[in-house]
Amino acid sequence: MTRCRDCNTCLTPEETECISCGASVVFKESAKTIFGQRFTGCIKMMFFASAGLTVASLFFDATPSFTKCVTCTLILAIVKSSAEQMYEKKKD
Ligand SMILES: [Zn+2]
Repeated sequence: MTRCRDCNTCLTPEETECISCGASVVFKESAKTIFGQRFTGCIKMMFFASAGLTVASLFFDATPSFTKCVTCTLILAIVKSSAEQMYEKKKD
């Protein structure tokens, strides 16, 4: 059962607009969910790539410096966890 976020009216899955207040809740929700999934997936990939590069930077000179890699990995870890939290909230 889908419910309008604004007025809590019950909506059928086919309805893209709230019959009570006219808000286009269903479309917005699915677009947000798709964006959240893509964004989280993209950040995850970047995080693992960065983590891999951090390990590689300890052994190879051809990679960016270890400090740069660690900073980048930490930033991505924070972004990843906040993106996952946002996505989890949307699923409720
Ligand atoms: Zn409504």
